[in-house]
Amino acid sequence: MTKISVIVPCYNEEEAIPIFYQEITKVFKTMKTCTLELIFVNDGSKDKSLERMRSLAKEDKKVRYLSFSRNFGKEAALLAGLKYAEGDYVAVMDVDLQDPPEYLPKMYKMLLEEEIDCVGLKTASHKDYSLLRRFFTSCYYKIIAKVSSTEMVAGARDFRLMTKQMKDAVISMQEYNRYSKGLFSFVGFDTKWIAYETPERKVGKSKWSFWKLFRYAIEAIVAFSTTPLVLSSFIGILFCLIAFIMILVIVIKTLVWGDPVGGWPSLACIIIFVSGIQLFFFGVIGEYLSKTYLETKKRPIYIVKETEDANPKTKMKKK
Ligand code: UDP
Ligand code: MG
Repeated sequence: MTKISVIVPCYNEEEAIPIFYQEITKVFKTMKTCTLELIFVNDGSKDKSLERMRSLAKEDKKVRYLSFSRNFGKEAALLAGLKYAEGDYVAVMDVDLQDPPEYLPKMYKMLLEEEIDCVGLKTASHKDYSLLRRFFTSCYYKIIAKVSSTEMVAGARDFRLMTKQMKDAVISMQEYNRYSKGLFSFVGFDTKWIAYETPERKVGKSKWSFWKLFRYAIEAIVAFSTTPLVLSSFIGILFCLIAFIMILVIVIKTLVWGDPVGGWPSLACIIIFVSGIQLFFFGVIGEYLSKTYLETKKRPIYIVKETEDANPKTKMKKK
């Protein structure tokens, strides 16, 4: 029997967890040669998610869970789940059924039959996105393809099934600022993609606002590219060149036509423009510096408070 670990990060998903559990167990009943290890990661939910996990783990030994001491973000939850998983193959997926478990048998079959290490799902079209979000999404993928040597597949979801070997490679990346799409791509290995129409969320709400997504996109660029820093040097040199040509023009003009005092409005514009550019690139450098700062602190990426076989509270009660 092959053991497949399915890792599911959850943040305020009390409604989705039981539905997800039903669906995934249904799918695994059809996979005769595989056993399931279902790992829920409670990312500091404020609702009854943890209670749902506790009761599922009690009923069904295939269910395990990890609970964080607070919300650490989906990336941290994924890492925790990957480290906790014991299966021969590992799948990561969302709990809201936007990553349909029905695809798992097909993904598993592909992994067995083909010379690949990972099968992922990608969104065929972003039909449900607003026009503005679709525009920014396509800009994002175009920009990151230009500035980063790590390939980011357009529309790739976090839903994937991979070998233990690939999972271990992802865990070995110790960085604090984790952008999973990039990490999975960085470690290499052969990944095949299945395009599908992403269904709407079954229950609950998306945790991503436009602003959060924007910040996430900037983080991805900072984490996987240093091109913005190179760009600042390049623009600096360009401006020096322009300044040099302007000096020449002004000197020649003064020598040939004399020097009528004037042109201060244009001077003011130039000063504002150039200081704007300078501030912008200070900001860019600041982004990298702040990430470096956070990495050097070596803070834990997540803190586990409870697991299915270690609950500090019940232990205390027993004593
Ligand atoms: N999630 C999480 N921690 C967070 C935010 C989200 O573990 O801080 C989980 C969430 O419970 C879900 C998955 O990440 O299982 C994807 O979240 P969501 O559906 O909100 O994202 P979307 O599908 O809208 O991109
Ligand atoms: Mg979702």
